[in-house]
Amino acid sequence: METTKVIEEDVVIVGAGIAGLCTALGLHRLGVRSLVLECSYSLRVTGFGLAIWENAWKALDAVGVGDILRHKHIHLYGNVATSLIKGQQIATTSFRDKEKLELRCVRRKLLLEALASELPSGTIRYLSKVVAVEVSGFSKVLHLHDGTTIKTKVLIGCDGVNSVVAKWLGFKEATYTGRYAIRGCAELENHHNFEPVLMHFFGKGFRAGVVPCDEKIVHWFFTWTPTIQDKELIENPAKLKEYVLSKLEKMPSDVRYFIEKTELDAFQSTPLRYRHPWELIMGNISKDNVCVVGDALHPMTPDLGQGGCCALEDGVVLARCLAEAFSYKPMEEDEQFKRIEEELKKYANERRWRCIDLIATSYIVGFIQQGDSKLVTFLRDKILGPLLAGQLLKKTSFNCGKLNSP
Ligand SMILES: Cc1cc2nc3c(=O)[nH]c(=O)nc-3n(C[C@H](O)[C@H](O)[C@H](O)COP(=O)(O)OP(=O)(O)OC[C@H]3O[C@@H](n4cnc5c(N)ncnc54)[C@H](O)[C@@H]3O)c2cc1C
Repeated sequence: METTKVIEEDVVIVGAGIAGLCTALGLHRLGVRSLVLECSYSLRVTGFGLAIWENAWKALDAVGVGDILRHKHIHLYGNVATSLIKGQQIATTSFRDKEKLELRCVRRKLLLEALASELPSGTIRYLSKVVAVEVSGFSKVLHLHDGTTIKTKVLIGCDGVNSVVAKWLGFKEATYTGRYAIRGCAELENHHNFEPVLMHFFGKGFRAGVVPCDEKIVHWFFTWTPTIQDKELIENPAKLKEYVLSKLEKMPSDVRYFIEKTELDAFQSTPLRYRHPWELIMGNISKDNVCVVGDALHPMTPDLGQGGCCALEDGVVLARCLAEAFSYKPMEEDEQFKRIEEELKKYANERRWRCIDLIATSYIVGFIQQGDSKLVTFLRDKILGPLLAGQLLKKTSFNCGKLNSP
């Protein structure tokens, strides 16, 4: 009878997204090999641009790819918020006087490629969907959809918002907010001459943003809460485009131009989900030799533009902790597992409150920014605009530290 071969690994990471690749690269830089399992046939890119703030640049520098990405993206010098109801700017923040504040809108594809290209060949195993996790003594056994079985000393779930590893740890499904985001990207043949700033627009029940990535590419987003009738639009890019443009009639025409120029196949619609913060207080971010990173741990609404940035911070902190567990000379199996368990707990404790803070603040900021009641609109346009911009900047000053020192 033919027996199935079991592959044995020290560290298995499920998911080759931002979180998985950053963790794998951090570990690689510290001399720890890992295997990354990705269910797609290549790097999976959802969305076009990603606001990468100061805190994430520190993480990217720690794993050694910051400069590769800096050269390909425009440094943004400010944040301008405009109320389309009042027809006036409600907050402007210049980053020019804040020497260390670095914000760029990075193309997701380039970010994933930069992280992946620094990994030793063979680190990522594509078409490898994890369907079940089983306990085998100290180890965990992963079953892939193609019948492959992999036994590992450490299991790291970087498998996004529908994480199988988070489920194994006891987390519930991420909660739907009822809000949706539409994202798009205009690629021009010539220089777009768009000012290097992040432009926000608030209207009755929606919020939009437009931001340049490089000299020819401009990324934009639109968030709103669709009614049952509106939901029919989600499947129809032509109608979706019409709808977005009709809501943004009062947007300056030179900014609206980029949405008009966006091809229909570059319209993407996504329901917004988050994890209740108390799940992170009560739940297991790590258990034995298993933990979660990135959206698998902290799905959040995109209102601070921090989900991916936070995933990069997670990756650096986890790599640092885990490398410590593997830094001891050969030891008894149970002693090694004890060290792994302790280091994963350290990671969980280090990340818990940072993630809770970002999830909660994003949710509140989104609620206020997209609010359509008279009171919320009044407060946002009159009082809260500068306060929210301040909150956003405060979160970007976090420093996850370098790989070899916290
Ligand atoms: C509208 C919107 C706008 C956003 N804007 C920003 C922003 O401006 N800045 C920012 O920092 N963040 C932003 N985010 C958040 C950011 O996109 C996420 O936080 C980030 O992509 C999370 O990365 P991840 O690697 O944890 O998960 P993912 O990107 O979801 O990667 C998970 C990977 O795991 C793979 N996978 C899943 N299940 C399995 C399995 N069972 N087996 C094997 N592989 C599996 C998937 O194919 C995927 O490649 C935004 C999010 C949304 C929705």
